[in-house]
Amino acid sequence: GDERTGSGAVASVDLGAVGHNVRVLQQFAGEAAVMAVLKADGYNHGAIEVAHAAVAAGVQEIGVTTIGEALELRAAGIGVPVLAWLHRTDSDYDAAITAQVGIGVSTAAQLDAVVAAARRVGRAADLSLKIDTGLNRNGVAEADLDVVLDATAAAVAEGAVRLVGMFSHLACSDEPSHPANDAQAERLRDAVSRASRRGTPPAVVHLSNSAATLTRPDLCFDMVRPGIALYGLSPVPDLGTFGLRPVMTLSAQVANIKKVSKGESVSYGYTWTAPADTVVALIALGYADGVVRRLSGRFEVTIAGRRFPSVGRVCMDQFVVDLGGDGSGVAVGDEALLFGPGARGEAHAQDWADALDTISYEVVTGIRGRVRRQFV
Ligand code: PLP
Repeated sequence: GDERTGSGAVASVDLGAVGHNVRVLQQFAGEAAVMAVLKADGYNHGAIEVAHAAVAAGVQEIGVTTIGEALELRAAGIGVPVLAWLHRTDSDYDAAITAQVGIGVSTAAQLDAVVAAARRVGRAADLSLKIDTGLNRNGVAEADLDVVLDATAAAVAEGAVRLVGMFSHLACSDEPSHPANDAQAERLRDAVSRASRRGTPPAVVHLSNSAATLTRPDLCFDMVRPGIALYGLSPVPDLGTFGLRPVMTLSAQVANIKKVSKGESVSYGYTWTAPADTVVALIALGYADGVVRRLSGRFEVTIAGRRFPSVGRVCMDQFVVDLGGDGSGVAVGDEALLFGPGARGEAHAQDWADALDTISYEVVTGIRGRVRRQFV
């Protein structure tokens, strides 16, 4: 949103915290390299700015979902290897190869298209094979693996591709001792040795997302691929915060203040009735901005270090908090903190996730609308 037309709501992104989180992750990763996962505009934190901060802090590679996301990073001057791993039937592999964007391939058809593109461009593609080791989502299926490995070996021999990586993604990493983690690692090792037997070992092997990086050092292979932890949010909140620092702080303005008498109700549907004479504040942020309606009455904002509960329904552009009978000294224009690292007494994105029975990923990626992003 524009300064003049916006709602006053701000998603403040602490790039220093990104650097801190990279260093924490590098400690957990040990000798392994760190690939920063910056898909979905850096989990809605701003992929370009987070990329610059992460690279400055020592990240060696970047992972995104689409080639388009990777090309935006290249256009912004990001020079480290970037890998994109989910494609359309008409994905522009020519552009990816030209920009030296790594291509994560999951099917024989994709590999054929990449090889054809490499021939057109006249340059070898940086190929990573995504192996389905049990997530049963994307990745080369076990039934297709030999065919894809044979085709890869032929493409390497032709000079159409370099096999820069083989990787997979875990299904149950938020349960560190789940047997699937070891089973998937074993299947990845098996795929790597089958490629090696064909004379085409991958340069790097990677499996771990944030949760595995933080809880399963034995599965780090050559590189780890953390996303959520880069943004300071724990992938396994029950096991702690691992010294990570939340990157996003969401704030909004107090837009109006008024007295409500005992017995009067507030907002649509009159779902909350004042139990005593009180003062309420209107906060200029609503479900169109990602403060989902199901949060109504289930979260608190912090104003000048004090917590105030949401009351009544969250609306499209606004919600109401109860300041108490004396109004607590809150004034129109005051800053209300919705979530952040907690340094000023504010709630945590995980509190919202708990209230909504979801994960913090969905909370931070859901912030949108008239919220202005600001880097600090
Ligand atoms: N690797 C792949 C292939 C992914 O799709 C993702 C995101 O889900 C990640 C790594 C990062 O996961 P997380 O944010 O849980 O660390």
